[in-house]
Parts: sequence; C-alpha cells; structure tokens
Amino acid sequence: MSKTNQGNGACMTRRNFVAGAALAGAAAFGAGMTGCAPKGAPEAGTAKTDAAADIPAWLGQEPDIADADIVKTEETDFLIIGAGTAGLCAAGTAADAGMKFIVAEKNDKVPETREYWGIVNSKPALAQGGEVDGMKLLNELTRYASGKCNQGLIKMWIDESAETFDWVDAMMAAQGKQAVVDMPGDHATGGTDYMTPVLQHIYLTPYQPPMRNDIILEHVQQKAPDSVRFKHALVKLDHAEGSVTGAVFETDEGYVRINAKNTLLATGGYPANPVMMNALQFAAVGCCTASSYYLSDDGLGLRAGIWAGGVKDADAAPMIFDRGAVDAGVDCGYLGEGDDAAFPGTIFQENIGSQPFMKVNRKGVRFCNESTPYDFLCFQAGQQPGGVWCEVFDANAPEDILRFDTMGCSGFAKQMMAAGMPLEEFVAASKDAGILKKADTLEELAEQLGFEGEAKDAFLDQVERYNAQFDAQADDDFGKEAYRLSAIRTAPFYGLWFGGTLLTTLDGLKIDEECRVLDAKNEPIGGFYAAGDVSGSFFSGNYPEYIVGVASGRSSVQGRHVARKLAGDI
Ligand SMILES: Cc1cc2nc3c(=O)[nH]c(=O)nc-3n(C[C@H](O)[C@H](O)[C@H](O)COP(=O)(O)OP(=O)(O)OC[C@H]3O[C@@H](n4cnc5c(N)ncnc54)[C@H](O)[C@@H]3O)c2cc1C
Repeated sequence: MSKTNQGNGACMTRRNFVAGAALAGAAAFGAGMTGCAPKGAPEAGTAKTDAAADIPAWLGQEPDIADADIVKTEETDFLIIGAGTAGLCAAGTAADAGMKFIVAEKNDKVPETREYWGIVNSKPALAQGGEVDGMKLLNELTRYASGKCNQGLIKMWIDESAETFDWVDAMMAAQGKQAVVDMPGDHATGGTDYMTPVLQHIYLTPYQPPMRNDIILEHVQQKAPDSVRFKHALVKLDHAEGSVTGAVFETDEGYVRINAKNTLLATGGYPANPVMMNALQFAAVGCCTASSYYLSDDGLGLRAGIWAGGVKDADAAPMIFDRGAVDAGVDCGYLGEGDDAAFPGTIFQENIGSQPFMKVNRKGVRFCNESTPYDFLCFQAGQQPGGVWCEVFDANAPEDILRFDTMGCSGFAKQMMAAGMPLEEFVAASKDAGILKKADTLEELAEQLGFEGEAKDAFLDQVERYNAQFDAQADDDFGKEAYRLSAIRTAPFYGLWFGGTLLTTLDGLKIDEECRVLDAKNEPIGGFYAAGDVSGSFFSGNYPEYIVGVASGRSSVQGRHVARKLAGDI
C-alpha cells in the first residue's frame, strides 16, 4: 500500500494540523459552506460531521491562533502562498514588476516541474502551423465541464498563454533549454469528434534539471533576494469584513503572521487528503488503485479559503490517469481508514495502461471503447466489478503502439518504441513487481491473470471476437477507430490489471476571470485571489486530457495574470 510516490517532505503534516485544529476553539464558519455541503443536506460522503457546528469532518474548524503565539509579524503588499506552478509565475512576475511581495512555501524546495505545458498559439507553435482556434477551444473546454465553468476565466488562459510562454521562454533559453512543440497526429481519436489542439510544449531535455520551476525560482531569488520563505506552512488566512488581510504560517520558529494588501492562494489540490477525497471525490476513489500525487497537496489551502468565506466548486474534478497497475484481485478504493487511508498500488504510473489495447473486466469481457481520454476509461471501469480492468496485448505491441499514435504523455510509449526500446523494458516496473503476466498461450495467460471457469471461457471468446473485429477493421461493439484495433495472436501474450492513478484535484475555490475568490453571493472577497489547482471555475467532472497540458498551462497563466493585474501591467 502506498501513500504516494511523489513529493518533498512537508515541514508540517496534515495529521499535526488536524490535531491542532481540534484543540482550537470554534471559529466563524460563515458562507464557506455554500456550494460544499449545505446545512441539513450534507452531500454524499460527508455524513460524519462535527457535532458542535455541523461542519463536515473534511473541512473542520478554522484554528484560532492567539496573538501571543505569533513569534513574528511581517508586512507586504502581495503575499503568494505556495511556490508551485502558479505561485512561482506570480512571484517571478511580481519580481519583474518591482513589487513588494513574499512567497511562502511549506517545503524547503519547489515541487518538480510538470513538463507537458499547455500553451495556446505560442510563436513556435504558430511557426509550425499549429494555430489553435481559440473560440473552439473555449467551447470544447466548456463542453468537457458540462458548462460548470467560467468562460471568461478560460478565455483569459487562452488569450494570455502565449505572452506567458514568451516570458518563461526567455528565462529557459538563457539557461540553454529549448522548447519543443508536440504536433498531435491529424487522425480520429476517441470514437467521436474531439478537438486535439496543438498545445503541448516541452523543454529539452525533459526532466533534466534545471527545470522550469527551478529556473523561475532562481529568477525570483536574483531579482528579489528576500522574497522567498521556505518552511512556511499555511495554517489559516486572516480575514475580516469580507476581506483577506494576510495569513498565519507554522515555521520552525513558531507561528509567523504575514499581513498583506493582497493574498494569492496557490497551494495546489487535495489529492493527498483521503478524508477530503472520500467526502468530495466519490467517483475518483471508486476507480483508483494508485497514487502519483504530490504529498504536499493536502487541501489545507482550500479549507483555509473556505474558512475565509470562499466557496468550493459544487462538483468534483479529479485528474486520473489509467496507469495504476496492480496484481490480479486488487480492487479500486482506499485501504485503511480516515487520515491513514491509501490506495493499494505500489506502481505510481505504468504508462502502457494508456495504450488503447483490448481491455476487459473481471468477467473477461470488454466494457468500453478503449480509445478514450485517460479518466473516461477509469470512470467506466469504476462501474465494473472491483473497478479494475485487464489490458491484453501480444508480441506485436511495439508496432501497435506506433500505429495507435496516442497524444500527450501517453505518446511517450510511441517515442520509446520508435527508439527501439524492448517492450519488456518499457514495462519493467510491472515486470519486476510480478504484475505483468506473460505466457505462450492465451489459456495460460488467462489463468495467470486470474480468470477461472466462466470468466476464463468468456476471456478466450472475447479475444477471438476482438481478433475478428481487427480482421474486419470495425469495432461493432464500441466504435473504436479501426487503426486502434490490434490482433492478439502472436506469442508471447501479455496482460496486466489496472485501476486509475490519482494525480491531483482540479475543483477548488470559485474564482472570476481575474482569479478573485468569490463568496457565497458570487461577489469577490477583498484582497483574495486563487490560482492553479486550489482554484475552481475551470474544470468539472474530469480532466480534459486531449487538451494536453492545460492544467499546468492555466496554473502558470493564472499566477502571472494576478501579479500583472496587481502591478497595473494589464
Ligand atoms: C505526477 C504529476 C504529473 C503531472 N504532469 C502534468 C503535466 O505534464 N501537464 C500538466 O498540465 N499538468 C500536470 N500535472 C498537474 C499539474 O502538476 C498541476 O495541475 C499544477 O502543478 C498545479 O499547479 P499549482 O501551483 O496549483 O500546484 P502545485 O504546483 O502542486 O504547487 C502547490 C504548492 O503549494 C505548496 N503548499 C501546499 N500546501 C501548502 C501550505 N499549507 N502552505 C504553504 N504551501 C503549501 C506545495 O508544497 C506546492 O509547492 C501533473 C501532476 C502530477 C502529480
């Protein structure tokens, strides 16, 4: 069972915080409940409430920090909480503008950069003919979100991302990092007419330091040497009369208060908080076997924003990839209770799970079109026994993967096959863990995968049917594109079980097109902004995976936007 495979050590654990909060006196709860769990009608999963104030357990009470316990107070114009994708872009922009600002980060370093960066109509993309129809993209994202979004906010990302790219790119180029634009193949995807715009920008060499976050941090520290406070863990926001006036942090020295004219919350999502996940993300918990989130993203920022009068998106929006490889018989969902709950998987992402090979449930039968956004497959599997699925392929998998030509980070498989990497090396993590099953006959493979009796017969029939569909080049069960069908006839045969792996959450504080946090009346709270995964109003229900890199792209743009706005630059 693994809690996570990502992240730096946090200087204050959530367990410590919850214990501290429990000792604190009751604090004003106010309008923050609206949109989360209306009084008297707790939403699914929030049955357990704080008896004293009818506060859901996942939210808890705002801690009361006595003035006498504050060891130091600082003053600034702009307080940025969280030095991740969004916070660093805000800090770098504030540094350029000569603003008086502080960026307060829980850890002693910045998080690992997310390399697949979604930018609309950058100069290099346009130079390669990758122009994106911004209005179509706006409406595509709105469709993914079922309309539960702020179109003005999405448009701000579309309109300002090329400018943000230019700003970041100058820093990256100065460090010898070159941007590459991924051009998605011009072919049908997902069994219907999805938009697959040119968005994905990666810096060479990916995952080799210095990466984007490191370079922006260096820029900040050079231009504003005293601005960064590591090991400052947000405890609560200071707020009064409809405004946020700063925040209190736990540090090695004790509690530090930072008073600010404006505060930007950029603390990421809440994937590392199983209590919040169980209460707010039913569908995600029901279809995940593994975690690949950042351990620091424990939702304290979101809770603090609600305590300060903010309102959370009504519906969940998880980021789940179809890569949580597990052994036969493992179910989706947490093991353990409450704060200690964790997903069972130990492999954080087995990339081959995103290839549209034949996938069957525990009864040995296909249940959906496998050529689909990562989380769509997981959600469909979540309606099958155990929430898991089994992916099956044969010795010709490398050629199949090249033909499938998937996009985004699943395209990594294609790149590795094109480079001649042996298939079993590509799935080495699952192979070494004994999760990858390999056999010379399909009967033997079925047994290794745990199919018995009727399920084994059904599995063998299913392979036969799938092979016939490949021969006919027509999926008359689920409408998968013909080029994404594959034959399963050439030994050795391979199979492995999967559930989803949880990366982050994307439902957060409702914000307007200026990233101002909204209260229960949809009015901005004074001096209070949110950006990135702690903010909402952008996604709903899913992560639009074919809009590659939109998560980190919008986080960067939102962070920069807030700082530019406060600096009077826009
Ligand atoms: C493994 C993985 C891979 C991903 N790959 C991609 C990708 O390729 N493309 C893409 O678009 N998206 C990707 N994502 C999603 C993307 O990382 C996020 O959407 C994006 O980073 C959000 O930015 P953020 O600034 O909101 O949060 P983060 O970048 O997570 O930063 C939040 C910061 O706040 C700090 N913090 C948290 N709590 C506190 C507190 N109480 N006090 C002070 N500081 C605090 C954290 O330590 C962290 O530094 C990936 C996510 C994961 C987990």
